[in-house]
Amino acid sequence: MSRKSVPFTREFIEEVTRRYPTPFHIYDERGLRANMRYFRAAFSWVEGFKEYFAVKACPNPHILHLLHQEGCGTDCSSLAELVMSERTGITGEEIMFSSNETPAEEYIKARELGAIINVDDISHIPYIERHCGIPEVLSFRYNPGHLRRGNAIIGNPADAKYGLTRAQLFEAYPLARSKGATRFGLHTFIISNELERRYFVETARMLFELAVEVKDRLGIRLEFINLSGGIGIPYRPEQEAVDLERLSEEIRAEYERLLVPAGLHPMKIFFESGRMVSGPYGYLVTRAIHRKEIYKRYVGTDACMAHLMRPALYGAYHHITVMGKEDAPHDQVVDVVGSLCENNDKFAVDRPLPEIEIGDLLVIHDTGAHGFAMGFNYNGKLRSAELLLREDGSVELIRRAETLDDYFATLDFSKLGRLGA
Ligand SMILES: *Cc1c(COP(=O)(O)O)cnc(C)c1O
Repeated sequence: MSRKSVPFTREFIEEVTRRYPTPFHIYDERGLRANMRYFRAAFSWVEGFKEYFAVKACPNPHILHLLHQEGCGTDCSSLAELVMSERTGITGEEIMFSSNETPAEEYIKARELGAIINVDDISHIPYIERHCGIPEVLSFRYNPGHLRRGNAIIGNPADAKYGLTRAQLFEAYPLARSKGATRFGLHTFIISNELERRYFVETARMLFELAVEVKDRLGIRLEFINLSGGIGIPYRPEQEAVDLERLSEEIRAEYERLLVPAGLHPMKIFFESGRMVSGPYGYLVTRAIHRKEIYKRYVGTDACMAHLMRPALYGAYHHITVMGKEDAPHDQVVDVVGSLCENNDKFAVDRPLPEIEIGDLLVIHDTGAHGFAMGFNYNGKLRSAELLLREDGSVELIRRAETLDDYFATLDFSKLGRLGA
């Protein structure tokens, strides 16, 4: 069994907690940068390769800025994500706007920023036209329906709310062209958190074939193919990361077999990865504050599912390291739980761990994507701080923890008793 490591020692992180109390998420700059360089190098054969980092995975401008320095754009799907991107200095075609059921104001903002709009439904062509005019570049999100099988998180494409059918796609391009669009892309997103390379190779093949058909039937030469996100990460110690070099080689083989002979070289290839880019480089640091022995054994922490919802939401595994006890026997079976009044507020169930004492620091792995981001305020729980572990070993606060004043900021207590009077 391979072992999951933490990029800091117990002494180091104890020192950090003196300045920034637990719980907090901490991101590893070195890991983030190295991983992004590896990703780009793997696809360096593609002319116009670009990763549009899915902002929803880790919506912090410092992370976006750092990834931008490594060549990433942003993939946005809400007004806040567009504005965060803009305020980070990422605009124009460095933004992919892949939304669905999109309100007009978001299309207007995306147009104002010059973002590439990736349309989720054919009915949105007239909708966009009415609200902000048809842009020069348009991309369409394809839903292959019964032609493909999804996986557990997204479900089968035919049951998913996203995208255009195949028939609609062949209507959408000419319709958009008739309304003034001149540059086109194709997108699909049908799998999430998948570690099997072949799913992504099959997706590339499907889109490459479609690009050839679009050219043959419509005389439209697509400019880019967006393979989107969904690349999984090894949450469990025994799992292996997707080998991006091999994935790239396999996609290249399809590219050379399908696109090159059709005269579609060079074709830009885009991704909108979130999880694979930032997931492994975030850690939720929390302290054990209680131990409880009833019908089972529990360790209570000062973090809860408001700080990391994936275990409660999906039953997802997140590895836990008890700092300073990495080599101790993992001979205690416990549930590691938070303080929400919800019985599924558990980071781990029946997990063999070393003997945990009150005050021990626990590090919950792989929280760099869909971790802090999915946080919420249920039960009046406050969102935690986010820290960045810099390459030089310093630690920077990149988002302060919420305070009670933040929580109450939208309420006006001075109106008490006067409502409806
Ligand atoms: C969530 C999302 C992504 C990123 O997915 P990951 O699984 O984090 O890679 C990319 N594109 C769209 C449209 C999304 O909704």
